[in-house]
Parts: sequence; structure tokens; C-alpha cells
Amino acid sequence: MNDPLPQGATIGILGGGQLGRMLSVAASRLGFTTHIFEPGANPPAGQVAHKITAASYEDTKALQTFAQSVDVITYEFENIPTSALDVLEKICTIHPGRKALAVSQDRLIEKEFLTGLGLKVAPYADITNAKDARGAIASIGTPSILKTRRMGYDGKGQIRLIEASDMTSAWHVMDGAASILEGFIDFTHEVSVIAARASDGQVACYDPGENVHKDGILRSTQVPANLSTSQRMDAVLIAAKILNALDYVGVMGVELFVTADGFIVNEIAPRVHNSGHWTQNGCDICQFEQHIRAVACWPLGDGARHSDIRMENLIGADMDRIAELRKSDAALHLYGKSEVKPGRKMGHVNFRSLRSSPS
Ligand code: AMP
Repeated sequence: MNDPLPQGATIGILGGGQLGRMLSVAASRLGFTTHIFEPGANPPAGQVAHKITAASYEDTKALQTFAQSVDVITYEFENIPTSALDVLEKICTIHPGRKALAVSQDRLIEKEFLTGLGLKVAPYADITNAKDARGAIASIGTPSILKTRRMGYDGKGQIRLIEASDMTSAWHVMDGAASILEGFIDFTHEVSVIAARASDGQVACYDPGENVHKDGILRSTQVPANLSTSQRMDAVLIAAKILNALDYVGVMGVELFVTADGFIVNEIAPRVHNSGHWTQNGCDICQFEQHIRAVACWPLGDGARHSDIRMENLIGADMDRIAELRKSDAALHLYGKSEVKPGRKMGHVNFRSLRSSPS
């Protein structure tokens, strides 16, 4: 294990959105400072971080200066260009490491990695041209989902196919982007495990949460999830297996479909995760602090859940609810974004109640 970072050390964070913002707050509570690297103007994390570098991921000089000014680098999103990582890694340690990024940046590599671990994933076929697209629809059938291999998030880069004939127009929309066709899973519900691994290999998983998505975007997470004790144990073991295989350091979100035949792994996110926001008010040590502890080579904290939580995302016009929510007992977390746009995550709210069941 590397030496734990001392008080006053600086954590570099790639990405200045709400996740970078909440990571900065957690880091600050542990006595660290944060330095955000973000190409966009006025990022939410910039309001709370110690320092911000506004530059593009193609700007080698800015990347080098950033890496020289921090003690460890982490990130809030997985789609960081490889060329930027190459520059940064020469100067400073990046947690979680490159293997986790390589796997999660590409849906095909991710599926191959997960099946290689003996885990179940949706049936899939690799598509790089129109001939593959025809072959994929013949082997996977419908209903199915065409997904770009790279750069997809929150349901973006995905097209649902109901009839085999839908493939022609869907492939046209993909405009030649390498893709996979995924068989549609008839799941009963969706859950996720927020799992953490320290630099000495210690693993701690939060209680699985039950997620509801609409239009590919997470709407709510409920804890405890509707799972039996043995399912809960299985879900946590799946997450731990993935983290160990990647020699992972940090927090990861592992999304699972619950089916009559067991869990199917949907995807992994090598970062703090929207479906883990409930931990801010359901646990003493939330996912953001846990991630900072891991990347700072500290021991992990206790992720035990003390309350039942329902987390609801505040997306776009949901901000109209703020006046009411302000008056309630619910814990509000707002991201400081000035402009409300449809589909834009503006904040979230955690409704807490007495813990109802053991885990
Ligand atoms: P993703 O971006 O892959 O996490 O997909 C976003 C959401 O779309 C998931 O959380 C599911 O609700 C739905 N979805 C994605 N892939 C599938 C699938 N193969 N079968 C059924 N639903 C899916």
C-alpha cells in the first residue's frame, strides 16, 4: 500500500460536474484541497474546489501543469480521452487505474471482461458495418437495443429496436459508429451496488439500491432494495469480484438487472455514481468520502446503512418542487447550476426514514 496522503495534500479531479463538486466537498472535510480540470465554463465543482484549470483535454501543457500541482488524480466520468491519460499518468498516479477505464469506456470490452469473470450479461453482438448489423439482428433478434460502444451515458447513443426492420434506420442514425446490439432483458427490477476498494485490497460495499430509470436517466433509488438476503449477498459478491479483478482503487457503481434466472450485469461505472447519492444521508461515510479515502490511500470507512432512504433526482422542471422541498425534512442537495434545461440533473433529494430491515 502507498503512504496515506497527509492533511493539506491536493486531489486532482478530472471533470467539474456535480460528482466533482460532491467529491470536492468530501475531500475538503477530510482536510484535503481539490484542483478541478474541466474544459467547460462555470462548472458546478468550481464553486467549491480550491483551484480550477479550465482547459481542453488536448492541451498537453495544461494537463502537465495540472498533474504537477496535485498529489493524486481521480475523475468523475469515464470518457476521458486516452491521450490525456497518457500525459497525466507520466507525472501522477491516477485512481482508479487505466484498466478500469479501458473496460468501462467500451461496451464491447466491458461485456467481454464481465463474461470472462463468469458473470452474466445481456446477449450481445459486435457491429462495425451494415453487414454486421444484419447478422446481429438475425442472431440477437428483437426487442433489442443498439448502443454505441463508446461515449454513451444516461441512455444517450441508444436506439430501441422493436422489429427486425428497425435496424436499417437505427444503423443509419449511428452513422458508422462502432456499436453493439444488446438483447432486451425482461428484468423485474434494476439494482446497483456501490462498492469501494482500498489500495491494500480491502473491499466495502454499500447495501444495494433499487433504481428506476425513465428515458435512460436515473429517476430514483430506494434502499433497501427489494432483494432477498441471499440476493443481496450475491450482488455484493459480484461487485467485489469485479473490483478485485481490476485491482481497483476507489468507488465503483455496478448496475444489475434482476431476473428470474439471477443477476445480469448491465454496466459498471468506475467512479462515484448517481445511484449512490442515498449514502449521503443513509450512512455515516458516504460514497464521496469513501472514494476520497480510497484514492488517498486511507483505510475505507464504515459504509453500514443506518436509515432507509429514497433518493429522487431533480431533473429539469423538477426544480419547481424546490419551494415545497425546502419546507420539508428531506435532505436537499443542489448542484449550483444556474440554467435549468430539460433532462439536466439539477440536484437530488434524500427522504430518510427509520431503518426497516437488516442487511
Ligand atoms: P445503460 O446506459 O446501458 O445503463 O442503459 C440505461 C437504461 O436502459 C438501463 O438502466 C435500463 O433501464 C435500460 N436498458 C439498457 N440496456 C437494456 C437491456 N439490454 N435490456 C433492458 N433494458 C435495458
